[in-house]
Amino acid sequence: MIELKNLVKTYGDTNAVDNLSLRIEKGEVFGLLGPNGAGKSTTILMLCGLIQPTSGECLIDGIEVSKNPIEVKRRLGYMPEDVGFYPNLSAGRNLDFFAKLNDIPDTERKERIEVLLRLVGLSGVEKKVGGYSKGMRQRLGIAKALVNDPDVVILDEPTANLDPQGVSDYRRIIRNIAGSGKTILVSSHILSEVSKVCSRVGIMQKGKLVRDGSWDEITRNLDLLGLPEIIINVETESGMPELIHEDIIRVDYFAERTKARISASKDIRADIGRTLYKSGTFPKEICLDAVTTEDAVLSYYNG
Ligand code: ADP
Repeated sequence: MIELKNLVKTYGDTNAVDNLSLRIEKGEVFGLLGPNGAGKSTTILMLCGLIQPTSGECLIDGIEVSKNPIEVKRRLGYMPEDVGFYPNLSAGRNLDFFAKLNDIPDTERKERIEVLLRLVGLSGVEKKVGGYSKGMRQRLGIAKALVNDPDVVILDEPTANLDPQGVSDYRRIIRNIAGSGKTILVSSHILSEVSKVCSRVGIMQKGKLVRDGSWDEITRNLDLLGLPEIIINVETESGMPELIHEDIIRVDYFAERTKARISASKDIRADIGRTLYKSGTFPKEICLDAVTTEDAVLSYYNG
């Protein structure tokens, strides 16, 4: 549904996007991850047809963006980091304005806006948008991106500056939209946000895509990245045996030995699985701790 082919954008001496190629299939929720300045926004702006690539191309559903900008915009919903709304109008009136710009017929507009306001939890809010919190504005931004019922939704740093409740609302809404079959691209520099909502992620650094794959694929073989310590959380159905391995630094058992937190010098998840299997203990979970995952992605960021 989204394809980037050898995409390049140069500003003077800066390669903002450097030979980026990427495919995102229909219905995927893809997270574009990278530190500030990695080139995420520049990539998104080219994908939306708002700036021209220096070379390479972007395709949405097989249509080349720079050659067919209007046709692509009909299929695309874009939420920039800071969406502009009329502060003296309600959410409904703002959406009505954007719906008119998108040529949504009078007969459909009212109902579509009601559905969108319900989706983002702003139904029945009378307050003018000027008095909205950041979270409310962000939710309205998502509704705006959906006003033309797009096949592809692109959200640039959607949770920047949101409080925990705002982040949780946003995740619920994204899952809802993803369930309706739309393809979603979310950019973020916040790892935990992307890992929770995305089926696949791509990590950008200095304009290049340095890794892409499922969250599992990205975090596999962490030992190769030279992390000093790996934390593995294990949960089993019944009490587990003593976990012994030359690469284990320390193990803490709790919850009647149905849970363990292992600190190891390598990623030994497969060995732990084998030990449990041999002892007839059913593993419910053997996963890397969030802290380890965070470290792994930071090491990609740092090259
Ligand atoms: P991100 O969204 O990952 O934070 P950006 O795409 O905004 O990164 O920026 C990538 C690089 O391109 C940065 O070095 C930034 O300074 C540069 N850049 C982005 N837009 C412009 C511009 N309009 N003019 C000059 N440099 C730019």
